[in-house]
Amino acid sequence: MSYKNFTLETDGDGIAVITWDMPEKSLNVIDLTVMDELDAIIDQVAQDDTVTGAVIHSGKSAFSGGADLTMMEGLLKDFHVKRGADPEGAAKMLYEGSRRLTLIYRKLETCGKPFVAAIAGTCMGGGTELALACHARVADEGLKMGLPEVKVGLFPGAGGTQRVMRMTDGQQGMQFLLQGRTLRAPQALQMKLVNEVTGTRKLVGAAKKLLKSGVDPVKDWDKKGYKLPNGKIYSPAGFQFWPAANAIYRRETYDNYPGARYLLSAVVEGLQLPMDLALQVESRYFAKVLQTPEAANMIRSLFVSMQELNKLARRPVDQRPNKIKKVGILGAGFMGAGIAYVSANAGIDVVLIDRDQEAADKGKAHSDELMSKAIKRGRAIEDQKNKLLARITPTTDYEALADCDLVIEAVFEDREIKRTVTQAAEAVMKSRAIFASNTSTLPITSLAQASKRPKNFVGIHFFSPVDKMMLVEVILGKRTSDRALAMALDYIKAIKKTPIVVNDSRGFYTSRVVMTYIREGLMMLGDGVPAAMIENAGKMAGMPVGPLSLGDEVALDLAWKIVSATRKDLGVKYVEGPLDNILEDMVVKRERFGRKNGKGFYDYKGKDKKLWPGLTDVTGQPKPADSFNIEELKQRLLVMQALETARIFEEQCLTDVREADVGSILGFGFAPYTGGTLSYIDMMGTPAFVDICKKFTRKWGPRFKPNKLLRDMAKANETFYGKFPPKAGDTAKEAA
Ligand code: NAD
Repeated sequence: MSYKNFTLETDGDGIAVITWDMPEKSLNVIDLTVMDELDAIIDQVAQDDTVTGAVIHSGKSAFSGGADLTMMEGLLKDFHVKRGADPEGAAKMLYEGSRRLTLIYRKLETCGKPFVAAIAGTCMGGGTELALACHARVADEGLKMGLPEVKVGLFPGAGGTQRVMRMTDGQQGMQFLLQGRTLRAPQALQMKLVNEVTGTRKLVGAAKKLLKSGVDPVKDWDKKGYKLPNGKIYSPAGFQFWPAANAIYRRETYDNYPGARYLLSAVVEGLQLPMDLALQVESRYFAKVLQTPEAANMIRSLFVSMQELNKLARRPVDQRPNKIKKVGILGAGFMGAGIAYVSANAGIDVVLIDRDQEAADKGKAHSDELMSKAIKRGRAIEDQKNKLLARITPTTDYEALADCDLVIEAVFEDREIKRTVTQAAEAVMKSRAIFASNTSTLPITSLAQASKRPKNFVGIHFFSPVDKMMLVEVILGKRTSDRALAMALDYIKAIKKTPIVVNDSRGFYTSRVVMTYIREGLMMLGDGVPAAMIENAGKMAGMPVGPLSLGDEVALDLAWKIVSATRKDLGVKYVEGPLDNILEDMVVKRERFGRKNGKGFYDYKGKDKKLWPGLTDVTGQPKPADSFNIEELKQRLLVMQALETARIFEEQCLTDVREADVGSILGFGFAPYTGGTLSYIDMMGTPAFVDICKKFTRKWGPRFKPNKLLRDMAKANETFYGKFPPKAGDTAKEAA
């Protein structure tokens, strides 16, 4: 029999070697054809008397990226179409469709012949679940094994929850499942999720050897008298473990993620049942999760849209691809040093310029530190560090920029300094090279006035810390050309980050929305809400940190500078509020600038921090916590950010709903379970959102007034995704 995605060859010892190598794909994924073929292959192996066992491995450098979630999206769409006329039939279709992979893996597990997975490199989601269904696993040293489904609002629904918890330590297993963490080879070995680790080239040989030494084709849990490795749920040990697991789940998720909630239910209920029934329980919860708006939104934003943006959906189609060999970075400070690292890490040569050699060297030392840490954690080797460092040339000499394809400026946030370095760099740069600014607030069009070639001038806005934050915001000035945009996007792709493209305005998208979150926290302080309650409201709403904490991170003196500048710009029109007094008192009178000088709304001691007890001297005694409704506080924090996003969308600074959503989650951690700022509005519906805005305007002031676009959409009951459906391959200019 021949297959599209697999080949099967049986050797002289009767071992069938199944090679998974999908044509026209760089990574093996599980789609409908893979499922059909795998199903047939298992039958073939089971029925062929000459075959004694099978090895399954990948013909590519990685084992598998997991299930193709667009398939899930399709399944869900069918479900919603069918649900109106036949709710029961639709639910059955979803359940059966979503558990097909479970049944195929279970058939593999119980077919009577031993299967060994030989896993090279990345092995994710459904790929990991396939490996776990096999009777043994051999991995190479580059293994990256994970079940990241919770990160897109789901959970591992093809046996993953049941097998992991029957194979490994309870605590480690729950953490692995709930956090969607990636395991390297030594951890996977220690957790008994793989049996053996070897070199990549020896993988198939090692798997065969294992088979020849005898691999039991019947799993322990399918034998009589099986005992769970961590004991029964209802046992003294279980009573110690499970209530704590539930508490940790709540601490980590604030019960915002149905995927994590049902994962825990599937594990607790499944562990009390034999495997076939346990898998049924898992499948039922999986079908239930699939139907939640949170899962649909997270799949759309964090999988589908993110993939499209990573494939540069917004790249102008008529531009030739750019190969970026060398970048120049002006300013080797906090950001410049980080940009140098991510560029060199992508194999790009870097010229790192600062005012003096010492500052430039210090910028390079940051890469040294990051690589040394990676080596310590077993994530890199000395040779990689040496190669990466050799790519970075720290200097004060602008002549070194002569052969750069792209120069990124990250000097102080000061117009005059930015103008000077722009001109100094342009004097030596190739005429076709692109100049980018990493400014966080200054409009690109105005900075481009310093340039002789404003068409070649673009904003590339990184987030800190650069090595960890996955988003990069590209800003188009009025005269930025498609070629400059294409270069910026090609560079972002090369450094493996996710780009969004926005039009020019003060604060662009992300910085502007972040400031509204911090501002709302300060307004709450002014309203007499206890500081701890504000911080908890932020976290309970799904934000990574509370607004006061974020204010400290961004720096209160910076916020004060922005407020003062706005006040100066608006003159008599400026309406002073409690926020001004609090900021002025904190910054001017008490020099509490935030984390950077160890004192802000919090007091900092190394990595520890606690709310500053003297805050009441600034704000006055807060009102009792029970005079505020926590649900309303949570909503205030999210609604303010979503509303600001809708305004930015109306102003056409943002032009693509995918970018609004993905940008909000990756850029400032907007409650991921909502799918992002605009999905949050769509999820409740524009009429309901506008009603809340109106209610908050009456209660808390005109900053909550809904904009015209929102009011019009609410009248027509329209959604953002319905009214502005994203088109793959849009060029930024068309969309703008
Ligand atoms: P920083 O103060 O850490 O670094 C600035 C560097 O620029 C310093 O090393 C300084 O010596 C150097 N510099 C100043 N004048 C120079 C000149 N004439 N020639 C060469 N080098 C010069 O500041 P940062 O936090 O890295 O910010 C840099 C830029 O990035 C700013 O525009 C800032 O708004 C933006 N930004 C910052 C963040 C952040 O979180 N810090 C995030 C996004 C963007």
